Amino acid sequence: MKKLISFILCLCVISAFCITASADSKPVITISNVSANNGEEVAVDISISNNPGIMAMAFCITYDSSALEYTGYDKGYLSKYTVKDHSDQGHVSFVNDESSDKATDGVIISVKFKIKSDASPKKYAISIENLNRQKYGSKLYKSFSNSKLESIEPSVISGSVTVNETCENSGHNYGDWTITTPADCTNTGIKSRDCLRCYTTQNALIPITHDFEADWTIDKAATPEEDGEMSRHCTLCDAVTDKITFSYEEIGDDTSSDSTDSDIESDVSKDENSSSGVDSSKNENSSSNQTNNNNKPNIDNTVGEKVPQQEAEKLENYQPPKEENDDSSEIILPEDTNETPENIEDENSSIDNNVTATDTNTNSSTQESSFFDTPLNLALVIIGTVLVIGIIVLCIVIIARRKK
Ligand SMILES: [Zn+2]
Ligand SMILES: [Zn+2]
Repeated sequence: MKKLISFILCLCVISAFCITASADSKPVITISNVSANNGEEVAVDISISNNPGIMAMAFCITYDSSALEYTGYDKGYLSKYTVKDHSDQGHVSFVNDESSDKATDGVIISVKFKIKSDASPKKYAISIENLNRQKYGSKLYKSFSNSKLESIEPSVISGSVTVNETCENSGHNYGDWTITTPADCTNTGIKSRDCLRCYTTQNALIPITHDFEADWTIDKAATPEEDGEMSRHCTLCDAVTDKITFSYEEIGDDTSSDSTDSDIESDVSKDENSSSGVDSSKNENSSSNQTNNNNKPNIDNTVGEKVPQQEAEKLENYQPPKEENDDSSEIILPEDTNETPENIEDENSSIDNNVTATDTNTNSSTQESSFFDTPLNLALVIIGTVLVIGIIVLCIVIIARRKK
């Protein structure tokens, strides 16, 4: 029984605390948060809670007048307001004067705004400030006061108007492209995507698309006279891309450049020569390729051969070393190359001999021409032949006399 009484007493004490706490708690004015699109009208509710009983109110609603336009109000549970619109200063003032204290919780006013058409999509704060008391006389008229002219100072929780992102103020918010018709080597394709907000569909053309190989292909072998060409080929049609030219010097050392000539010759002489001779020349090729340093592109100078991407990249960066002796001999070669096929036809004996024979032939021909070019050498030759003819004539005369 004692326990029951003590329990009831405790309940009474707790409830008494709660009542006094609620009686002492401060009034709160809360401004609502709303959102809308450009051009639409919104109503921002201003509510009071823990209302102790108010007879007169005078307050300012502040807002961003560059985005919002004040259009009016609903008075809530109160009788009427006197309104002063200062939209040029971004606020509108409200004054309410009741005949007695009103202690109702709820919406004291609902302020209406129209969102301007050019307002940027973002959150605009709506706040409440006490009116300038000096304007109304601070002694007579507090911002919030009761019938005893006691000042009431509610705390304020600000609200906002959020201008929504729309396709009009932010552009369309497109999703991923969907390929409706894929492109190929001869036809453009079509792709489309939808706005995730307004479902507007955007169509676009896909340009003609080739399936290019990763590797380059030799289109034209390099010769001492002309640069070679390589490009990436389409696997489906004859289209090419990324055309690269390369010089004779860039693609290998001297032996490998000679071997390209012998490759052409070996095709001619394959039928006549033994297969062992061709094999030996190929071994020379592979050995010469192995001697190439790592920076030098390893490219087979034959039409149709594939060139891996890394070798093609090496070609772009590679600069062949300048060797004056080799260069001079190679510079002479192009001038005489018109004659070399004849020399090759003359001597079909072996590939290695051919290479050396062409060299010696060209060398001897250049020596002969230079020998007769100088007048001193020419004179010596004439004197020599005159002497020989003289000796022969002398011998014939001596033999004729002995016979007699
Ligand atoms: Zn849209
Ligand atoms: Zn193609």
